[in-house]
Amino acid sequence: MDLSFNQTSMDLRERFFNLLDSLSALRALSQINLERVTETELLAKALDELVRYQNIDHCSVFRMESGVLRCVSGRSMAESHAEITGTPSARTAADSMSFKSGEGIVGIAYATGQLQYCRDCSQSREFKTHDSNVSDMPGSLISAPIKMGDKVLGVLNASHPMAEYFEPWQQHTLSLFSSCLGQILYNHRMLHELEILVDQRTEDLGKALEEANRLRKRYEQLSMVDELTGLHNRRFFFNEAEAHLSRAIRSKQPCSLMLVDVDHFKRVNDQWGHQVGDQVLAAISRLLLDEARGGDLVARVGGEEFVILLPEAGIEGADLMAQRIQERLTTLNMGNSHPGIKLTVSIGMTELVKDPDPNLSPSQLVDQLYSQADQAMYDCKRDGRNRRMRYKGSVDV
Ligand code: GH3
Ligand code: MG
Ligand code: MG
Repeated sequence: MDLSFNQTSMDLRERFFNLLDSLSALRALSQINLERVTETELLAKALDELVRYQNIDHCSVFRMESGVLRCVSGRSMAESHAEITGTPSARTAADSMSFKSGEGIVGIAYATGQLQYCRDCSQSREFKTHDSNVSDMPGSLISAPIKMGDKVLGVLNASHPMAEYFEPWQQHTLSLFSSCLGQILYNHRMLHELEILVDQRTEDLGKALEEANRLRKRYEQLSMVDELTGLHNRRFFFNEAEAHLSRAIRSKQPCSLMLVDVDHFKRVNDQWGHQVGDQVLAAISRLLLDEARGGDLVARVGGEEFVILLPEAGIEGADLMAQRIQERLTTLNMGNSHPGIKLTVSIGMTELVKDPDPNLSPSQLVDQLYSQADQAMYDCKRDGRNRRMRYKGSVDV
């Protein structure tokens, strides 16, 4: 009676400690930091905890990869006791094998989603091994599916050299452990897929920003250039002229400005058509650019109106250039198809005074010069066109 009581109390004690070990293994599994590990590292850590708390000779995880179950991590008790960490770890001959779904004990566990217990591997018809590795064959083997809901993610194997080794409570623990592992594996995948998604979105956003910048630059460039003639436009001219004028004032250099307006351009359009009118404007632009020096600023400021700022040139230099423009215009070649086009321009000119009013900003000075040249240009129109005139009077801005 006493003997049997002692036996029962020892059994209970052992069961109690087994239960504690099982709970410890599960607790350790739940404490793995998912953010810091790769999936393979996670599986290796899970196996470390399993062999640490369970009396299992060898355990491994098989994962489905391209339609085949392959061993991604393995641990043996000897290895664990020697505190060898990291992968690759101890692998049996079976670990180096791969299984199709339904093939061998591992494949059956995967295909059915049910825990498989092979009590005596040497006698089992399902157990699959290489003939050459019979000595390496375990006595008993448990293959527990690693599941998340109905989806089987892989298989957890636990083996022992002895046949009939695993007791029901161990089977139960392995079943619990593998289902917890399934949940953790799923969470890990979700977490890292989310990270990948965030990285991808960040990269996409970066590309979109780059594209937006490229478009903005292109737009800015377009908005500075007159599309028909390729010359700078009005906006660019007024911005840029300020800087030129400031430099001229600082360095006490002369600076002139001329406005070129095509005479009776409306007639060109009326007689030859708008398209030819466009070609004429483009040809005049080329001529102006050709006459300009490197530092000159040439822009189209209206339909048939052009402006040229001539840094380092006084009114005499501007007048010489205006003269050349007028001369060349008389022989402007518009091609054989339009030999009858006769073009003249009116050119108004002015120059920066030696001591400009210090109260005027560069922007106001540009406006002043522009208004003066405009007035001179209208004097040309009033006096019959096809001429150039210098600004004489006073203009308020
Ligand atoms: P004025 O001697 O007084 O300057 O006479 P004008 O005909 O040159 O001047 P007006 O201001 O009466 O007419 C300008 C013409 O220029 C009218 C307009 O259709 C034409 N024009 C403006 N921009 C363009 C353009 O981009 N292409 C063409 N083909 N014509 C244009
Ligand atoms: Mg005109
Ligand atoms: Mg005009």
